Amino acid sequence: MSKIKNYINGQNIYPLNDKWLDNYNPSNGEVYGQIPNSCKKDVELAVESAKKAFESWSKTSIDERSKILSKIADLLEENLEKFAKAESKDNGKPLSLAKLIDIPRAADNFRFFAHAITQFGSESYETLGKEAINYTLRHPIGVVGCISPWNLPLYLFTWKIAPALATGNCVIAKPSEVTPMTAYLLGDICTKAGLPKGVLNIVHGLGQHVGSEIVSHKEIKAISFTGGTQTGAAIAKIAAPMFKKMSLELGGKNPNIIFADCDYDQMLKTTLLSSFSNQGQICLCGSRIFVEKSIYNKFKTDFVKAVKNLKVAHPSDKDAKIGALVSKPHIEKVLSYVKIAKKEGANLLCGGEKVSIKGYENGYYMQPTVLEIQNDSCKVNQEEIFGPIVTIMPFETEEEVIQMANSVRYGLSASIWTNNLKRTMKLTREIEAGIIWVNTWMLRDLRTPFGGVKDSGVGREGGFEALRFFTEPKNVCIKY
Ligand code: NAD
Repeated sequence: MSKIKNYINGQNIYPLNDKWLDNYNPSNGEVYGQIPNSCKKDVELAVESAKKAFESWSKTSIDERSKILSKIADLLEENLEKFAKAESKDNGKPLSLAKLIDIPRAADNFRFFAHAITQFGSESYETLGKEAINYTLRHPIGVVGCISPWNLPLYLFTWKIAPALATGNCVIAKPSEVTPMTAYLLGDICTKAGLPKGVLNIVHGLGQHVGSEIVSHKEIKAISFTGGTQTGAAIAKIAAPMFKKMSLELGGKNPNIIFADCDYDQMLKTTLLSSFSNQGQICLCGSRIFVEKSIYNKFKTDFVKAVKNLKVAHPSDKDAKIGALVSKPHIEKVLSYVKIAKKEGANLLCGGEKVSIKGYENGYYMQPTVLEIQNDSCKVNQEEIFGPIVTIMPFETEEEVIQMANSVRYGLSASIWTNNLKRTMKLTREIEAGIIWVNTWMLRDLRTPFGGVKDSGVGREGGFEALRFFTEPKNVCIKY
């Protein structure tokens, strides 16, 4: 059985306690490898190596860092097939999706920040009347921690690592224990690209062990975390009294608001994607669908028909639209919401059952599910399910839908479908979210700020926001 290893000081090494965790293949429910169940000592070793590397990495020229990051991007692209297969096997997502989105985006993350760092400047002010000039230096923070979830494994892992490295920090990174494989493969790519040893260290293991050791280590000065809201709160509790910088990208329960005047066909096509891409396991999925009453019945019929046509299949099936959910506990949690919904009086329009695929009977497959609800305060409409389940309900006025959109604890993203400019301006102002798409979904420009409000997080990543997060500003005032 293959064993993946920690990547510390430029080398793949066994966990110091020689303890291991099983790694499951969600498409067939079988154990196919083992990953380190690392402990405090592994994190300490990684921090020591990162501290040493920081002395020279923090002083490398922007050109040098940019060159290495670009090389990592090139190598990821050259190894697209290998990485996509590994991602799909580890996570259960359709291979076609990993090839089209996950791995190309991981390469883009490195290439984007390789360029962005060359454009990252600082402010200066001539303080007239006082014969002084102020300017701001931006120093790397030092050793930083990056912790990422399982839903978009390499995509989100690199979204943090690339800006951290570009700004001259050294990194202790932990991928999700559920999907460690592509992070493991990334280590070798970084070595090949010429990243000096110790600059990036990847420690595998459980969140409550490795994750919390990273968060509480006194030499790790900043934490960039993406994951669940509850974990984010636990991290903040430890990191805040230590005055660590924190960027917390947390859960979502995003509204998808559909007005009768929208481009209907485009909306329907995109709503299928925003509801069920990656088995609905994207923090940005629009899991609460509100439809203007005059087109509600038509939408309901068309949407349910299209959802029933989505093919649930093994991730390697090129026609698979829905692959396997990530793990057994996760699919059980998602299915439990179908029961909750029924108890709450929701109308199950389609789906709601496990799917058995010939030859892969123990895989974690379920039908895409649409629930019609009467009241937006029900549990399935308020809690993050993070699977292929959406709710639909009608609305009559802008005020009513704004109120419903804002009625959850989360505020990550929202989609609005309308061709009315005045309405667009009103809703984009009044909806509580960090990201709003109008007449589209998941159209990403890496220069833009990314993150949520309310219980969806604190801080922003993306573009210069990420470069600012990973640097410490120091103002200098010179009187002349
Ligand atoms: P999770 O919070 O369980 O785990 C995320 C990471 O944190 C994993 O690496 C895990 O090992 C680690 N971790 C767990 N407990 C920890 C602790 N006590 N201290 C430090 N680290 C710890 O989340 P998940 O189940 O992997 O991912 C799903 C969640 O992530 C969903 O809520 C989803 O909305 C959210 N998410 C948010 C975004 C965003 O950009 N806002 C993007 C993707 C996923």
